[in-house]
Amino acid sequence: MQIFNSVKEMQDWCKKHKKQGRSMGLVPTMGYLHEGHISLVKAARQDCDIVVVSIFVNPIQFGQGEDYGSYPRELERDSALLLKENTDAVFAPSVQDMYPAGYDTFAEVFGDITGKMCGASRPGHFKGVTTVVSKLFHICQPDRAYFGQKDAQQLLIIKKMVRDLNFPLEIVRMPIVRESDGLAMSSRNVYLNEEERQQALVLSQALKMAEKNIRDGEREIEKIRQQIKDMIEARPLARIDYIEIASGQDLSALEEIQGGVLIALAVKFGKTRLIDNLLVEV
Ligand code: AMP
Repeated sequence: MQIFNSVKEMQDWCKKHKKQGRSMGLVPTMGYLHEGHISLVKAARQDCDIVVVSIFVNPIQFGQGEDYGSYPRELERDSALLLKENTDAVFAPSVQDMYPAGYDTFAEVFGDITGKMCGASRPGHFKGVTTVVSKLFHICQPDRAYFGQKDAQQLLIIKKMVRDLNFPLEIVRMPIVRESDGLAMSSRNVYLNEEERQQALVLSQALKMAEKNIRDGEREIEKIRQQIKDMIEARPLARIDYIEIASGQDLSALEEIQGGVLIALAVKFGKTRLIDNLLVEV
């Protein structure tokens, strides 16, 4: 397994493999890897001749006062995990190399899809995400790139960007990997203390409850939202950022529960903001 810190070297290496006719899968991450990330790597390994995993805590997707400085970083541990998965190359560039002095170019998706949910709570976040992902696509030129449903809005935005800008690659969506008690795996779970972690279980429980109520025939969006809100607010440490129920295709507003529906939550426990979601097909 090769580890590249330089954009130029990564680009040259990818070009060489592409020229030899090998298919390439890219898994973009911010590191501090867990089973969720590894599920993406395993899928890429199955589908592609060459697997590249990027590890880059992207400063431009963090807002002021967010956790850029404290985001967990453990490149050695991550590299060992990736070696076990037969990864071909790890791309861990420096901020300086990705955004040298005078850097001025951004990729941004506009409209409802970026304006609500995490886009509303974290202004500029998705502009940072789509910019770094565009750069990674240009550097590595993958045939497929793997993203988790955990970040449902991010996935839809990247799919839209790829469509709108004609990136010649396929976006592969992978399901959410959870702890055995239901908590969606996240690098940020490490911030939670014991009590916060216990109370955070309410997220997956509330989503399951909503799914059951929908399966039992409930179609009124406001009712479902209120049920979720009541359940989460019963946990004293929870502070709701948003509860969104929208089209799973493009996040557009729905009149009622119908078709592919995304139920998405962002809730803070102490200083830690967690997201979770569920796609229901009605
Ligand atoms: P991150 O390192 O948080 O930027 O995540 C990198 C990729 O892993 C993104 O495509 C995430 O959606 C995906 N991912 C993160 N957590 C999970 C999870 N629990 N299950 C599946 N994919 C995940």
